[in-house]
Amino acid sequence: MARRTLRTIPVHADGSTCDHKVNSRGKPKDPADPCTGRTGYKATCSCGWTSTKYLRLLADDDRAKHAATHTTTPAAAQAA
Ligand SMILES: [Zn+2]
Ligand SMILES: [Zn+2]
Repeated sequence: MARRTLRTIPVHADGSTCDHKVNSRGKPKDPADPCTGRTGYKATCSCGWTSTKYLRLLADDDRAKHAATHTTTPAAAQAA
């Protein structure tokens, strides 16, 4: 499969995925959650590329720029 999978995921300070419910300040809503606090967003691509930003907006922006690097590559022409 030549198709690239790009996504933006919330992360903790150590880079691990934060799939917890957090408030607007990045603190866990449920004290029982093993959450150290959401500190940023990581844009990832199935090619191995990643970029971590403090804001989802910035991570999404980086992700879009990265996606463009794939679409301009002739070899990726078949990627949807
Ligand atoms: Zn968390
Ligand atoms: Zn990529």
